Amino acid sequence: MERIPCLIIGGGPAGYTAAIYAARAALRPVLLEGLQPGGQLTTTTVVENFPGFAQGVDANVLMSEMRAQAGRLGADIRGGIVSEVDFSGRPFKVLTDSGEELVCDSVIIATGASARYLGLPSEEKFKGLGVSACATCDGFFYRGQDVAVVGGGDTACEEALYLSGLCRKVYMIVRRDVLRASVAMQERVKAASNIEILWNCNTREVLGNASGVTGARLVRGNGEVFDIDVTGFFLAIGHHPNSEVFSRWLETDENGYIVTKAPGTQTSVEGVFAAGDIQDPHYRQAVNAAAAGCRAALDAEKFLKR
Ligand code: NDP
Repeated sequence: MERIPCLIIGGGPAGYTAAIYAARAALRPVLLEGLQPGGQLTTTTVVENFPGFAQGVDANVLMSEMRAQAGRLGADIRGGIVSEVDFSGRPFKVLTDSGEELVCDSVIIATGASARYLGLPSEEKFKGLGVSACATCDGFFYRGQDVAVVGGGDTACEEALYLSGLCRKVYMIVRRDVLRASVAMQERVKAASNIEILWNCNTREVLGNASGVTGARLVRGNGEVFDIDVTGFFLAIGHHPNSEVFSRWLETDENGYIVTKAPGTQTSVEGVFAAGDIQDPHYRQAVNAAAAGCRAALDAEKFLKR
């Protein structure tokens, strides 16, 4: 049976960067790409904040270049979704949805997190055309325009504050009459003159045309339906880490993020490492995920050499 020294699970910035470093360290990495090769970035358009691209870079181009770089350096990139793992002892066992069992000496988990969406067909239709789940990534494109942020947690407040520095007006669409966010964040939001909170409101439909989002149709708790004019519609209703398949074996926090021993990427099982959004609920940026992927490969190398 094939024995894999370093299995990397996940094809986003963390996984590809781990593969680049592991391949260069002659760890003969195998990378399983999963359902969404390229990761969350592929749901956006232009990336302007990834260093090294003076004019910005198309997100899909960036990811396919990372993938090609990993492949050129010798990483064995395969399709496949992990359906089950056994981390009870070494070597570790990983089962894929095609029934293949992989036996590995070290594992780097880089399966990321997924933004939560409302689940409206119109929201799906305008993803990348005004609907976004990352203000830091996409807010810049809405400078001077009116936008909306859905959610009332710390992320929504942070995103609304970030957007308020760029946009003319920011609506916060909050489904209750209170914010879930910390008091400090609430105060900052309420002090921003260009943020308007729409309390007790839910989104019925994202409105738009061939060029993108033009507004949103909302419904208040009392049944009143009304429209707002916005060109950007940002979701900030939470993320969920893609850790379900591992959580039986690894320590996770109360939200399901895999716990690693800072400053490294070691999980609660020796030889299993985690990098990127799967262990980082705070920064959630491609450049951070890439950096964590690098650290995971270096940690795996050290572990394997020991
Ligand atoms: P949260 O789960 O804290 O908040 C989610 C928000 O979205 C809530 O207001 C929730 O409403 C709302 N929401 C959920 N589902 C829907 C829906 N279907 N329709 C409309 N609204 C919806 O997620 P966050 O991402 O904000 O935060 C995650 C964690 O990260 C938290 O612990 C947070 O404190 C932390 N964090 C800390 C930061 C900081 O300290 N600077 C920055 C960002 C996050 P409701 O309240 O009604 O449930």
